[in-house]
Amino acid sequence: MKLILLGAPGAGKGTVAKLLTEIDGSVQISTGDILRGAVQVGSELGKQADAFMKVGDLVPDELIMGIMETRLQEPDCDKGFLLDGFPRTIPQAEALKVLLDKIGIDLDMAVNIDVPRDVILDRLTTRRTCSNGDCQAIYNVKSNPPRQEGVCDKCGSPVIQREDETAEAISHRLETYNEKTAPLIGFYEKEALLITVTATSSDAVITAIKEKLEQ
Ligand code: AMP
Repeated sequence: MKLILLGAPGAGKGTVAKLLTEIDGSVQISTGDILRGAVQVGSELGKQADAFMKVGDLVPDELIMGIMETRLQEPDCDKGFLLDGFPRTIPQAEALKVLLDKIGIDLDMAVNIDVPRDVILDRLTTRRTCSNGDCQAIYNVKSNPPRQEGVCDKCGSPVIQREDETAEAISHRLETYNEKTAPLIGFYEKEALLITVTATSSDAVITAIKEKLEQ
């Protein structure tokens, strides 16, 4: 399947994407994970992205499109891809459309995961992430803690609170979402690709996506 996952930070895009990869081998492509990995290894991309990410601002569109032009043409994308956190602005959505036309790929749909703001705030403040850039497993101190406190179940690295998950950065990320990313809902509606799923459970989102794909 070839999907875009839309939704505010904390809506569950990453969790849904991971579950979907198990269905047909589609790959999850998270621009946030790619950028955090780049910051951790100190690459040129990471150096350019770091200051924007810390405060919850978006990284410039040109940097993101540079990453995605390459990533979407890698062979593992042949099985399908789940775009998690991309596109995030109208210019990115327009550039993606041109890119997909050029490489001859049709999207199945853009899924807007709609979750109430109080749930989002609670999730983001209690979310913890594996600090290993190659793992980045997600935990939640309330609903899904690691077996050993502060240690990743999958790779044994420290599990931390992300720098952009302080109260101040979260509030800025949500404002950025409303201003820059929410307009993509109208964009994909016009493209006749949008489905909106109002659900707080990932399983309910997966069920809605499967039903739509089967239609
Ligand atoms: P995420 O893990 O998707 O919440 O992304 C974390 C941070 O990475 C965001 O707050 C942005 O600073 C940056 N980022 C991720 N994806 C994008 C994108 N498509 N466009 C611009 N910035 C992005």
